[in-house]
Amino acid sequence: MTEDRRRSLPRIDALLEHSEVARWIERWGRAPVREALRGSLGAARETLAEEAAAPAESDLLAQARRRLESEDRASLRAVLNGTGVVLHTNFGRAPMAAAALEAVHEVASGYSNLEYDLESGRRGSRYVHCVELIAVLSGAEDALVVNNNAAAVALAINELSLGREVIVSRGELVEIGGSFRIPDIVARAGATLREVGTTNRTRLADYQQAMGRDSGLVLRVHPSNYRVEGFVAGVELRELAEAAKSAQLPLVHDLGSGLLMPEWLPGFPDEPGPRASLEAGVDLVTWSADKLLGGPQAGILAGTAASIARMRQNPLLRAFRVGKMTLAALEATLRLYRDPALARDSVPALGMLLESPESVERRARAALRDVCGTPDRSSTRARIEVVPLRSLVGGGSFPGHEIESWGLAVSGVNPDDVDDACRAHRLPLIGRVEDGKFLLDVRTLVNGQEARATHILVEALAALDERA
Ligand SMILES: *Cc1c(COP(=O)(O)O)cnc(C)c1O
Repeated sequence: MTEDRRRSLPRIDALLEHSEVARWIERWGRAPVREALRGSLGAARETLAEEAAAPAESDLLAQARRRLESEDRASLRAVLNGTGVVLHTNFGRAPMAAAALEAVHEVASGYSNLEYDLESGRRGSRYVHCVELIAVLSGAEDALVVNNNAAAVALAINELSLGREVIVSRGELVEIGGSFRIPDIVARAGATLREVGTTNRTRLADYQQAMGRDSGLVLRVHPSNYRVEGFVAGVELRELAEAAKSAQLPLVHDLGSGLLMPEWLPGFPDEPGPRASLEAGVDLVTWSADKLLGGPQAGILAGTAASIARMRQNPLLRAFRVGKMTLAALEATLRLYRDPALARDSVPALGMLLESPESVERRARAALRDVCGTPDRSSTRARIEVVPLRSLVGGGSFPGHEIESWGLAVSGVNPDDVDDACRAHRLPLIGRVEDGKFLLDVRTLVNGQEARATHILVEALAALDERA
């Protein structure tokens, strides 16, 4: 009986003759198509034991096609960020400037002088790239680029404080994104943590009492993603720099975002920048290139020539080194900063942070009008409206600071279903669910993506309608 039913399944060679399958073979190649068909026939054979009828040929083909399409999909894919968090680590932080992408293409599609000195025709160093630009933009004597800011901090601690104490205020023992905890980094970099002060108050005397024969360096960490309010006291950077200098200890400042031009973001709270920090007497600053700088993932170390020279000799540098694509993108991004107006216009992260709420609202309304024809579109059940929202900077910058924004709110349907459907799209659209509504913040949808996003949303709602 089962044997008979098994025989009722089509043979793989017959399926391969199918006209639709011929098109698949053109697209995906014969071997993957055969593999996918074999897979759906195998699955059908297994269910035949329990089910009465063999699946229709069209079902077998549809299943094979789904298999091929899902295999076709890259693991790392583009998504639309409708969360309103501008620098979202889960979404790759900063979108890159066009100039950076061009530079990557130029350098990576062929060979480059990554480690080659064009003047002498001899072997050169990858660590010369970007240095001049970082020095000019930050006022540092010298600089070094590594994989990310975590690597920069680890390298600084390992080089300047191996086997010694790293003095840190208890108010700055932060964890960033779950895997970067200052105490753990200090320990793994081969140093001992020397905590001073308390969570909310640290005085200069607390630091001074800890400075001694076992000290390696003083570390100041920007408490990026949280804020202590109320009965709080810290030590001025300038004072701390003077105290460290008299104790002959290097002072390292982990800036987190390292906003290059603090005056560029009017209305935002103060965010420490490399220039101000170095001018206050800090020996070495570190920051991420993919936060407020708006570049590729990288960590920048900038400071005195002596401290950078030491780090260049450290064997760990090899483990933290950056590739040519990163250096190309970083150099092109930094170049934009030589002209403030150019940077504002062409670094996407800055553009998003600086876009006026009125402009975001206009984009939200236009997208809804273009896709749905009317200002407020209702599917049979769902209702989409343009609503005011609040965006976050993200990336550990400006903790708690919200930016006035606008976006689309969907009500009348289960918001989690809308969320799932948008996420399942070929170009996944990520929003957020709040107060029983599905929300899309238009501020973080780059360059005309708002229409695309609205389209995906409407498609998702239509699919939900069909299912209901
Ligand atoms: C984000 C951040 C880091 C980690 O930087 P990555 O570039 O993600 O490695 C370290 N310190 C501070 C203060 C930060 O804000």
